[in-house]
Amino acid sequence: MISRGSLFLAAVMAASALMFVPAAPAQAGKQKLGRTVLVGGNAAHRRKYQRWIDAARVNVKMPRTKVLFRESNCPDTSGIAACVIAPRFFATKLRFYIPRVLLTPQYYDPVDTKNTVLHELGHVYDFKYNDDHHRGGWLAIFGIPGPFYSDEKNPPYEKFAVGYSYCAAGFSYERALTRFEFDVYEHTFTPEQYAATCAMLKPAPKPPA
Ligand SMILES: [Zn+2]
Repeated sequence: MISRGSLFLAAVMAASALMFVPAAPAQAGKQKLGRTVLVGGNAAHRRKYQRWIDAARVNVKMPRTKVLFRESNCPDTSGIAACVIAPRFFATKLRFYIPRVLLTPQYYDPVDTKNTVLHELGHVYDFKYNDDHHRGGWLAIFGIPGPFYSDEKNPPYEKFAVGYSYCAAGFSYERALTRFEFDVYEHTFTPEQYAATCAMLKPAPKPPA
């Protein structure tokens, strides 16, 4: 049975949008690593989302990234939607839109709201850290020819964000499977594919001292 909260999130995810201009990710992986930090917006709400980001069990170390926190609906979308918008060529900050209603008692679901945040964090990671090599590696895990950014209904970049959110939440394979009915991008995977996805997102081991 699907709860009301879950249905709501399905709508959120269905309308989840990503607007971007693919930019040359030439410096990816070579910049100083840091933390994804939300800035602006309601401080208490921002702290809640920031805690989830900081607790993500994947490599959240990427070029230190400040992301503008906007507690409103994703622009130019109908319905209620979260999204990350990347400015052209990353000249200014990324914007992270989360509808305020997701924290209201009427809709709030800790699992679904957190999953939405981690999904969007996956897009931030993709923009700021992934390069063509990383994206190609992800496509190879699933045997998808690409392109990573496509206009199809359930494009690879959205499936990447779905997988990222599960790995970031620390879900086991079995737990991740339970999310399928809420995933409008219909991202399916074998245990091996899920393990490989999470492995490529793990923090790099520290070099020996
Ligand atoms: Zn998305």
